[in-house]
Amino acid sequence: MLVDAFPVGPLGCNCAIVADPSTNKSIVIDPGGDARKILDRIARHSFQVEAILHTHGHIDHVGATADLQKHFPVDSLLHPDDRFILDMLVVQSTFVGMRAPERPKLGADLVDHAVLRFGGLEVTVIHTPGHSPGSVSFRVQHGTERILFSGDTLFQGGIGRSDLWGGDSAALSRSIRDRLYALEDDLQVIPGHGGRTTIGEEKRSNPFVRPRASGAI
Ligand SMILES: [Zn+2]
Ligand SMILES: [Zn+2]
Repeated sequence: MLVDAFPVGPLGCNCAIVADPSTNKSIVIDPGGDARKILDRIARHSFQVEAILHTHGHIDHVGATADLQKHFPVDSLLHPDDRFILDMLVVQSTFVGMRAPERPKLGADLVDHAVLRFGGLEVTVIHTPGHSPGSVSFRVQHGTERILFSGDTLFQGGIGRSDLWGGDSAALSRSIRDRLYALEDDLQVIPGHGGRTTIGEEKRSNPFVRPRASGAI
């Protein structure tokens, strides 16, 4: 599995191109800005883009999607609970001081527990609401390799904010504790912003959400 992750846009959203090298099929996760930079990287690898996936509907994660769709007429996928956030791109752009991008064309809804296949890539959708109602994480597997894209739910040593549209701090903690901390300790994590981490590292040291105490009492 080839993973090319790099920050895009003024807020430094981690965009990722994930490819199955045996078929050259790839997906783009969270193209939040800098469409030219993303297109150049796809061209350099000569990947075929199969879909654009979004961890949630915030402008810094969807800002370049419509531009990419002009080059690759593929579906862009979002959890339906974040559709209302995508419908307020102009409000969002004023809030963060960015130019409002064109609205992406959405394909099928992302559904919790669904497994999407692109060549040899298997993407499991994990609904992790809290940062936004439709926030999801993607666990991508190719053979024995696997990696998690946690969006703005879980960061290296941090968690996402829950004071934006539809945010819910209790739901955010539950999503991390019950869904993400239940994944493999050695699972690599690429968050929506900042550096990489692993599930085990966050369970050990994340000061904001502690794992459920094991054992009796
Ligand atoms: Zn966000
Ligand atoms: Zn973000």
